[in-house]
Amino acid sequence: MRILVTGGAGYIGSVVATRLLEEGHQVLVLDDLSTGHRDAVPEGAEFVRGRVHDAAEILGPAGLDVLGGFDGAVHLAAASLVAESMSNPAKYEENNVVGSSRLVSTLVDAGVPRLVFSSTAAVYGDPEEVPVREDAPCRPVNPYGESKLAIDRVLAATAAEKGLAAVSLRYFNVAGAYAGRGERHTTETHLVPIALEAALGRRPEIVVYGDDYPTPDGTCVRDYIHVADIADAHLLAMAGCEPGQHEIYNLGNGNGSSVRDVLATVEQVTGRKLPVRVATRRPGDPAVLVASAQRAAEQLGWRPARPRLEQMVGDAWELVSKGAA
Ligand code: UDP
Repeated sequence: MRILVTGGAGYIGSVVATRLLEEGHQVLVLDDLSTGHRDAVPEGAEFVRGRVHDAAEILGPAGLDVLGGFDGAVHLAAASLVAESMSNPAKYEENNVVGSSRLVSTLVDAGVPRLVFSSTAAVYGDPEEVPVREDAPCRPVNPYGESKLAIDRVLAATAAEKGLAAVSLRYFNVAGAYAGRGERHTTETHLVPIALEAALGRRPEIVVYGDDYPTPDGTCVRDYIHVADIADAHLLAMAGCEPGQHEIYNLGNGNGSSVRDVLATVEQVTGRKLPVRVATRRPGDPAVLVASAQRAAEQLGWRPARPRLEQMVGDAWELVSKGAA
């Protein structure tokens, strides 16, 4: 298939693009490089720099015709930081809601039949029950989650009205590295890369945001999932989606790891002691987020091949300790 990958210069998008190419698909990456890196785009993918808002125009006078040549799109381009969304919600409205809605209508106008959308566990907010299933109530507690939920709803309507085959993949906490591609955010907020930077001595300390949560050790519990397993779910979703249907799948391993569990794994993998300080909670953080990914297993045949936190941390460490990320 010929696939458009928005956000294909980013962490997850570049791994999705890599896996698509490995499976013999053709890939065009559209990315404005606001947070992504040109050198993360895999060799063999075409690259166009620009915002999703202007997808058709960027591709030139024949933009809609060019887009019409795609069998599907994977839409990952987004602003994706919970804390930033609390301080700058307008950015999340403009990038994620306005940009994505416009992209969806452009793709439909061009006749692109399939869309796989990068959604998030943040749509569930503070879930009442864990593991979280797809039919759990969606009550986001931050503008990032709100912005992704808005597009899940746009996709449901577009599938019903226009016959689009749409899939929303709700990622839990993505970690690890694949084919030389790992997390490299200019402003890093994610726990695993921050802990690895501290292990390398590039940060004086790691701040644990709250140890007074109602969890076994008081720190937040998350479901970490390997970036290559996440990427593989996109390939399965692209192959398995149906015209007129909008499907939603949670992507996680179903295992909860606390912040302290992650730090202990980083110490074990790197063999280095981490300087840790406990501070107050970070606004917008739910206490526990663990996925039930049973639906993705049953309907897509998705089975994470790298479920151990040690492997995720180990793959990321191999890359950062070589200085490659
Ligand atoms: N966290 C932390 N210190 C950090 C970064 C993250 O204690 O420097 C915690 C954060 O509060 C959350 C968990 O680690 O409970 C995972 O956060 P991350 O930002 O990696 O992912 P999120 O769950 O926000 O998508």
